[in-house]
Amino acid sequence: MRPPRLAPLFATVRALKGVGPKVEGLLNKLVVPRHQGAHARAIDLLWQLPVGLVDRAIVPRIADAKVGALATLEVTVAEHRPGGGRRGASAPYRVLVEDASGAFELVYFNADPAYLRRLLPVGSTRLVSGKLESYDGWLQMPHPDHVAAAEQGASTLPLMEPIYPLTTGLSNTVLRKAIGEALTQVPPLPEWIDAGFLAKNAWPSFGDAMQRLHAPQDDADLLPSAPARERLAYDELLANQLALAIIRQRLKKRTGRRIAAQGRVRKAIMDALPFALTGAQRRALAEIDADLASPHRMLRLLQGDVGSGKTVVALLAMANAVGAGAQAALMAPTELLARQHFATIGGFADASGLRVALLTGRERGRERTAILGALKTGNIDILIGTHALFQESIQSRDLALVVIDEQHRFGVHQRLALQAKGTGAGAELLVMTATPIPRTLLLTSYGDMDVSRLDEKPPGRKPIATRTVPLDRLDEIIDGVERAIGSGAQVYWVCPLIAESEVLDLAAAEERYAALRARLGDKVGLVHGRLAGKDKDAVMAQFASGALAILVSTTVIEVGVDVPNASIMIIEHAERFGLAQLHQLRGRVGRGVAESSCVLLYRQPLGETARERLNVIRTTEDGFIIAEEDLRLRGGGEVLGTRQSGLPAFRVATLPEHQELLEAARDGARLRLTRDPGLKGKDAEALRLLLYLFERDDAVRLISAG
Ligand code: ADP
Ligand code: MG
Repeated sequence: MRPPRLAPLFATVRALKGVGPKVEGLLNKLVVPRHQGAHARAIDLLWQLPVGLVDRAIVPRIADAKVGALATLEVTVAEHRPGGGRRGASAPYRVLVEDASGAFELVYFNADPAYLRRLLPVGSTRLVSGKLESYDGWLQMPHPDHVAAAEQGASTLPLMEPIYPLTTGLSNTVLRKAIGEALTQVPPLPEWIDAGFLAKNAWPSFGDAMQRLHAPQDDADLLPSAPARERLAYDELLANQLALAIIRQRLKKRTGRRIAAQGRVRKAIMDALPFALTGAQRRALAEIDADLASPHRMLRLLQGDVGSGKTVVALLAMANAVGAGAQAALMAPTELLARQHFATIGGFADASGLRVALLTGRERGRERTAILGALKTGNIDILIGTHALFQESIQSRDLALVVIDEQHRFGVHQRLALQAKGTGAGAELLVMTATPIPRTLLLTSYGDMDVSRLDEKPPGRKPIATRTVPLDRLDEIIDGVERAIGSGAQVYWVCPLIAESEVLDLAAAEERYAALRARLGDKVGLVHGRLAGKDKDAVMAQFASGALAILVSTTVIEVGVDVPNASIMIIEHAERFGLAQLHQLRGRVGRGVAESSCVLLYRQPLGETARERLNVIRTTEDGFIIAEEDLRLRGGGEVLGTRQSGLPAFRVATLPEHQELLEAARDGARLRLTRDPGLKGKDAEALRLLLYLFERDDAVRLISAG
């Protein structure tokens, strides 16, 4: 349970002084989409970062104020000039103000005269701040941002006003006031940062950092390197790393089990492989074997670019589990991919005696019952299925190893913790990812997971000639495709993501399909996400067998199909794809003996970033370089489509700017947890508060469960 002293921070904004239903509605609109809860809470307001600064330093005399600029002036109210009557009902209400050097009018449209008379009594002295304009030769200030009594001006009127991102209907002043109220809700908190580290960085306390975050004094205070921002970013990263470390600690608990290499099954598969393992594959396998042989549970990420040969490594790891008399499971993100894994791995069944079964949403009724039964009695060695298998609690005789093919999804770590009760709870875990995740992001989404990298491609891979071509040369490209398929080539033709709408994407793919088919005949096939599973398989099988020469698709082929004879990849509207996605798509070709090529069709004119993106893809095939460039061009939060990815969206921390802080947080979290694995010691209370503050309640729950 969240400690009571944090309650005011997590109360809805309605509890704040001055926030009524209308403002609450606006604040909800501003922050709810970010934190995915139901209501804006005080803490959500605190995480609104100022993006600018307005200097409201007082100008001594009206005569010195610049027209067209912001001015803050001390003036005396001389006269009210109501709008109605003389100049018509819609005319604005004006208030003449002056000092010894000059005069101007405050101008209000649709204002309540009674309110203005109270705000600006004739003869009173006021501080007013706003933009000065010249209208018909008259100096005026329409709708001043601030009006305050002169004697209390300095306290109510911010001389340096932070500017926040807003939403329609919400003014900066209203938001700033609400944030000011939220700031008063920050309770005194014990320090969770190591004293030495805090001193070395000369950082303020959490509470002070919050105050300063919202009271920037100059532009430097708005940068990620400002001490207040660094401190809060570190807090956020520490909470992230601590939570991941706790999950990892739980997952790695001793299993008491050692899976020693029993060579028989593995050797049978090795003998049947039509190729020798690459050095990288051998190294990864040795690391996995060592994990399996140790009494601690394996928690390993197998990272390898598309086509680097992860499946074989997974198969050989599973062979070890089976050789030791246990069972293994392989889970894929899509049904298509599960089927492909089943085909690949099933291909070794005869040679090795492995009993392999496939279980997806499509195996139903008697078939499903039979598979589940066989798994339970131990008549199935390897079960292959989709990620959905995970949520189910499937009974097995002795499931010792689970391999998760993540492709490019993140957030496995958290999910693993949540699913600790599902299929394979307690099993050794190998997670495969095709995404060349930059180190930075690896740390934030997987924490300190053990990593094996396949940084070497199987031999014989040829470079893929990549060209960028404007869409208006489409006809030329189609001519080229026609010639190529005439000499036996196979082509992927990927249609773009047009809107966030499957229907529209589909329309584009169908249109292209119809056009190509009209020109090239029935050698053209179409596959998309809306196709029924069986139909999808049928089309894929036709393409794999060579019966189809061109496969038009939406991005469904992104997830790992393997047709070695396919040598040409055409991507329409390549400018709409992210770098990682383009890289994944291109990786579908270049796997066979033929020279391969990739054509990136783009619509002119290209924006600056799109141009850079296409350039990166054109000039390198190195997944790691591409990932780093992606990070540079889009920033950490956006890389690889954060929304679906589960990648943590940070509030203050930004990557790569806070890279060093991230590493320090990783070390800090590890150290604290080594010293005090149950976070029970006397300074652990502060760390628990930190976890609650950054809403890592899941981690606190885990650690409290012991
Ligand atoms: P990934 O899953 O990493 O994208 P796959 O495991 O699908 O890659 O392998 C891609 C292709 O490379 C497959 O056709 C596979 O049979 C082949 N392959 C894997 N390892 C080797 C190797 N050491 N030598 C030659 N070909 C290999
Ligand atoms: Mg694969």
